[in-house]
Amino acid sequence: MRIVRLRPHHMMCLLNFGGEGYSSEFVRNFWEILECLELGSEMLVVEGGDDICRACPHFAGECRMSEKGEVFVRGLDRRALEKLGLKKNEVLDLKKLVEKVLKIPEKELAEVCSGCIWLRRCYSQLFKG
Ligand code: SF4
Repeated sequence: MRIVRLRPHHMMCLLNFGGEGYSSEFVRNFWEILECLELGSEMLVVEGGDDICRACPHFAGECRMSEKGEVFVRGLDRRALEKLGLKKNEVLDLKKLVEKVLKIPEKELAEVCSGCIWLRRCYSQLFKG
């Protein structure tokens, strides 16, 4: 079984993925990763580009979604790492990740992902009213 390499903020994205993304290849790869994890593959916490980035049209050795893309996503990674209580090179499975995410209060989830273009779609219930 393969081990899936993931940067910390993508561990937050995993649990909210609804089939949208930056290209059809990105979406296909994302579903494939989710299926691997659901079938029992483990994930490894990495720094920088990961198995999700590698199928992204914005990836060129680092995130180039905007001029300071990598700086921005590293901020997301730092906050996600801290909030999930993870360390670089740690290995965990999907069940453990879900347990960790469920411990984060809803309002804090939005703080971790602050500035992400998908935030309102992932946590739409937080922005009602
Ligand atoms: S937008 Fe950036 S961080 Fe997100 S998948 Fe693409 S390259 Fe990776």
